Amino acid sequence: MSVVGRFAPSPTGAMHLGNARTALLAWLHSRAQGGRHLLRFEDLDTGRVRPWAFETTRLDLAWLGLDWDEEVIQSSRLPLYEAALARLDTYPCTCTRKEVQAAVQASVGAPHGAEPVYPGTCRAGHMPGRPAAVRWRVPAEVACAQDELSQTALCQDLPTEVGDLALRRNDGVFAYHLAVVVDDAAQGVTDVLRGADLLGATPRQVALQGALGLPTPRYWHVPLLLDFRGERLAKRGGAPPVQALREGGDSPGRVRAELARSLGWAVPPEVSLDDLLPLWRAVLEGRLTLRA
Ligand code: GLU
Ligand code: ZN
Repeated sequence: MSVVGRFAPSPTGAMHLGNARTALLAWLHSRAQGGRHLLRFEDLDTGRVRPWAFETTRLDLAWLGLDWDEEVIQSSRLPLYEAALARLDTYPCTCTRKEVQAAVQASVGAPHGAEPVYPGTCRAGHMPGRPAAVRWRVPAEVACAQDELSQTALCQDLPTEVGDLALRRNDGVFAYHLAVVVDDAAQGVTDVLRGADLLGATPRQVALQGALGLPTPRYWHVPLLLDFRGERLAKRGGAPPVQALREGGDSPGRVRAELARSLGWAVPPEVSLDDLLPLWRAVLEGRLTLRA
């Protein structure tokens, strides 16, 4: 079966070198296998979207030589998410953030430090008249996600470790978890290469695929680029945005080389994408690794 991969940025700000490295690896993964490569703007969280970020991202990707066969924008696909939501076992939730926090703290055996798990308050009924979120009644199952890069599985007990997920917020915004699952399936994506920060979200996405009868793609979670202090690159501060390098007359070959070197790959000071494709094939064959 031929590979279909994608890069799915959220157009919430400038693309920094960390995003660019993930974009580069996603492109290499698709193209090293002769596959199709898609670009998807995940712009559902309208309050965080910066309208200029769409075009800046396209220009940054093109400058690095990372092309794509098809582009989709999530905000133009709302009926698809609506239809998927209607097929799930859901209920309205009118809890405020404060009420959820209080309920989590009051629930017995609430784990300390872990992400708060919604205790299912509104399964018993909600407050009419308040704006309602839509929550998915998660099945009483353990959901596992296989990561192809690390060759490990991450399993989570849905009721106790994930809880009933809000798939639409009370302001009408569809959740990323729902949209990503719907779009990966609708676009025939076979391989999801993305940052390791999303590994913990993968079991719930696999569970959603199961509930919707959608196929599960292969997942490759790649390390995030850390700055010299060992911290994640924030969108502001730290690394310069790709746009600044591009407009400052930097060379894309040098930036590609810098990204490759940050993975521990020995490359000359300037590299082409053709130089990097064999390196990604070596990763797939287990002859080369990625350094965080
Ligand atoms: N839009 C997400 C982000 O920028 C990535 C989602 C994904 O690759 O599944 O973090
Ligand atoms: Zn509730």
